[in-house]
Parts: sequence; C-alpha cells; structure tokens
Amino acid sequence: METGLYIHIPFCKSKCHYCDFCSVANADSELIARYTNELCRRMHEWKSRCRQRKFDTVYLGGGTPTLLNADQSATVLDTARECFDILPDAEITVECNPATASEYSLAAWHALGVNRLSIGVQSAVDSELRLLGRIHKFADAEETVRAARAVGIDNINIDLMIGIPDQTVESLEYTLSRYIELDCSHVSAYCLSVEEGTRFYKSRDKLNIADADAVADMYSLVAKRLSESGYEHYEISNFAKDGCRSRHNTHTWQCREYLGLGVAAYSYFDGERFGNSRDIEAFLRGENIVCESYRPDKDERMSEYVMLGLRLRGGIDTREFYENFGVEFDAAYGQRCRPFVVSGHLKIENGRVFLTKQGWLVSNAVLSEIL
Ligand code: SF4
Repeated sequence: METGLYIHIPFCKSKCHYCDFCSVANADSELIARYTNELCRRMHEWKSRCRQRKFDTVYLGGGTPTLLNADQSATVLDTARECFDILPDAEITVECNPATASEYSLAAWHALGVNRLSIGVQSAVDSELRLLGRIHKFADAEETVRAARAVGIDNINIDLMIGIPDQTVESLEYTLSRYIELDCSHVSAYCLSVEEGTRFYKSRDKLNIADADAVADMYSLVAKRLSESGYEHYEISNFAKDGCRSRHNTHTWQCREYLGLGVAAYSYFDGERFGNSRDIEAFLRGENIVCESYRPDKDERMSEYVMLGLRLRGGIDTREFYENFGVEFDAAYGQRCRPFVVSGHLKIENGRVFLTKQGWLVSNAVLSEIL
C-alpha cells in the first residue's frame, strides 16, 4: 500500500484572525532558508527507513508554501524525490494564498511536478475576507485560478468557510454562485472554529457568529448547490468533480500511512502515530521534535477506522473491516449502530455502512454514540 508525504512550511505573509495553524507571520528570508535546509537534512535522515515504500501523494501545506522562492521550492521537491520513491503519477499538491502566487511562480511549481493547487479562498465577499484578516480580495483568487490553468495546473481546490462572522444566507449564496462560475475541480467547505490563541478568540464576545442551527442550514445549502452543479459530495466537507477527489486526504480517511515532515506535522508510520512540536528553533537546532508518539492498539485502530471511514460518502466496507481486524463489523458495532439505522442517520446496505445526508449533519453526535 502506498504512503503519503506531508511537508509543513510554517510561514505566512500575515496571520489571519482565526488561524491557529503553526505559521510565522512576516518571517525573514534567512529564517525561511534555514528552515528549508533543515527540512532537507531531515529528509535524508528518513531516507533509509523509507527505502521499501512508494509514495503516491505529496502535500506541501502550511502556512503558505508558495512563499518559498524558486530555489527553495526546487530544493525541497528535488530532495523529496532523492530521498523517497515518489511515483511518476503521484498527486503533488501545494497550498497557496491568492496574494502569494504569480503566473511566473506557479509555472515554476508546475515544472517541479506540482499538479494540484489548493487555494485558501474562503469567501467571494471582500468584506468577509477583510474580517477574517485575509490579505487578498476575491479578484486575486480568480486571478490565481486563471494563472494556474494558464500554466497547466487544472486540478484546483478552493476552500470555502461557513459561519464567518456576519455571514448571511444571501452572502453565502453569492459566494457559491461565484465559486460555481470558477468551476474548480474541488471545493473544501468547512465551518469556522474559534480557537484559543487566535485574534478571534480574544474578541469572541463581540463577533456575530451564526448559531449551530444556522450553520447546519448553511452547510445544507452548500451541499445542495455544489451537488446540483456537478460536484460529488464524497466526504463530509469535500466536493469533487469526476476523478478529482483529494488522494492525499483520502489516505487519512482510509487510515493509510503517511509521513509528516517539519514542525507541527503528524505522521502515521510503521503502525505508530506521532506528531512534531511547533518549536521552530528546536527544529532548526536539529533536535528531535517528536512530542506525541504512541502505537494505537487494535480497539483504537478499529475506532479510528470507523470514525474516519464514516466521513466518506461510501462509508466502510464491512469485508475490508473484517480483513483488517479479524472481527465482524456487526459484532463490534452492530448493536450501537442499530438505533441510528432506525432513525435514518445510518444505512447498512450491500456490505457497506455509511451515514445518510441527515446523518452527516449530526455526525459528531452519531459517532460519539457508536464509538
Ligand atoms: S494563510 Fe492559512 S496558515 Fe497562514 S495565517 Fe492564514 S489561515 Fe493561517
């Protein structure tokens, strides 16, 4: 089974007001250069442990990987190819912000083998983008999509945020119509979550954020409009045109292994789950930054398999479940599933178990009862 490779680039032009990802705003070019050098050194450390593996996805996330200059991006991807057996048809994704990628720089990424772009658009309403602390306007996103297509990157994801302060059904309708016009191959739609340590968290009492019912209605609207426009709603938060599902994220939902490099990156590798700390200085000093590491036992692996598998439209294949764990799905979870089958939140059909559309709306509640 192929492995996924994740590379974290923790630099951004400025910090968005809701962001709790590991990223340094306005980092100087020397820090970025030191980081990429250390990243490459660590790739060489992993080389021998990965000799038997084939990698079918590479994902450069962040942060804003498109802040790397041409030399740095070439060094990172060339080193990845030198250290890991990356398949010729691998999906290679780079995350980007609309205001950080020109046609020229996207051409350079494409020449390095990047064949998928994930753009943090969030909304088509400029006042919402300003409120989120985004540094771009929607027109910049449109320009980035145009530029990506011009250089030959057709597989493009755009992020869409639900529950932005002051967002209304009308403004979301407007965003959806502009997104549908853009006609990208993939849309990731996710709900704003106000996390501790962010600027939004400090002013959370003053923010006009929709309640859970209104957010659920907005989510249903997104699902309806995108599905009507030719997108397959293949995962709770993700929509894809035919053949354009995210292979990298599907690795995670199918509990397949991946290696995460860089600060704040997570891995599931050789049966072990581990996460790196956010400490960039320790990373640059060459220290071991693994801060969470454990080997999930069989019960935990079964729970993860169910929790992640039920995020997918296709759900879980009960025969595969038995092959993986030597236990019938029904024996392990059947009893706890039955009330949700009766209530219409869950279906068990033709050897598959999956959440219905109604079930997706309350997936956290359903999963917490089942697991
Ligand atoms: S661009 Fe992305 S990673 Fe950077 S601050 Fe904004 S949300 Fe965070």
